[in-house]
Amino acid sequence: MTTLSNQDFHQTKLIIFSAPSGSGKTTIVNYLMKEHPELKLAFSISCTSRQPRGKERQGVDYFFLSPEEFKAKIANNEFLEYEEVYPDRFYGTLKSQVESQCAAGQNVVFDVDVKGGCNIKNFYDDRALSVFIQPPSVEELRRRLVGRATDTPEVIEQRLAKAKYELTFANRFDRIIVNDDLAKAQAETLKVVSDFLTL
Ligand code: ADP
Ligand code: 5GP
Repeated sequence: MTTLSNQDFHQTKLIIFSAPSGSGKTTIVNYLMKEHPELKLAFSISCTSRQPRGKERQGVDYFFLSPEEFKAKIANNEFLEYEEVYPDRFYGTLKSQVESQCAAGQNVVFDVDVKGGCNIKNFYDDRALSVFIQPPSVEELRRRLVGRATDTPEVIEQRLAKAKYELTFANRFDRIIVNDDLAKAQAETLKVVSDFLTL
C-alpha cells in the first residue's frame, strides 16, 4: 500500500498517536499543538467517509469524502495508508498531506487507529515516534465516551468492543502513556515528544 521513498521528504520528524477511542488522544494532541508552538507540529488531516460530527469542519478536522470518492483515491494510489475502521467507514492519510507538511519544515502529528499507527511507524522507522495513549480501564473509557456525548449508545458499544482488541496492540508502540490524571499524562507526553525531537 505504501509507495513513498523515505528520501522523498526533508528530515522533519513524525509523531504517531494511537489509542482506543475515548482514551483522551485528541485532548492530549490538542494540548501539544496549542500550548507548544516551539515543537513546530502540524496535524496530519486524514480523509474519512464518515459524516462530520459536532463542530467538525471540512479540511480542518478531516477531509470528509463520500465512500465513492474515498474508493477512487484508493484506486488512484493516493494514500500513504488507509483502513476500513468500521464497515464502509474509511479513514486514511493522503501522501500529499505528509509531503506538503514535511516540505514546510514541520513535524507531522498523526492521530490514527492502531493498525494505521503500526503501518506508518514501520514505513518511517527511526524517523517516527509511535505513542499509545492508554485509558486507565475499559470502565473509565465507557464513562468518557458517554460523557463526551458525541456518539449514539450503539456507536459507543462498537467503539468499546474495538477498544478491547486495540489494547492488545499497546506493546508494539515505542511509548505507552497512561491517561489517568490528564495533567500528568500531558506533561509526560510533552517530555517524550520533546526528547524525541531534540535527538
Ligand atoms: P479520543 O480522541 O481518544 O477519542 P478525547 O480526547 O475525545 O478522546 O477524550 C474523550 C473524553 O474524555 C473527552 O470528553 C475528554 O474531555 C475526556 N478526557 C480526556 N482525558 C481525560 C482524563 N484524563 N480524565 C477524564 N476525562 C478525560
Ligand atoms: P473518529 O471517528 O473518532 O474521528 O476516528 C475513529 C478512528 O479512526 C480513530 O481511532 C482514529 O484515530 C482513526 N483514524 C483517523 N484518521 C485515520 C487515518 O488516516 N488512518 C487510520 N488508519 N486511522 C485513522
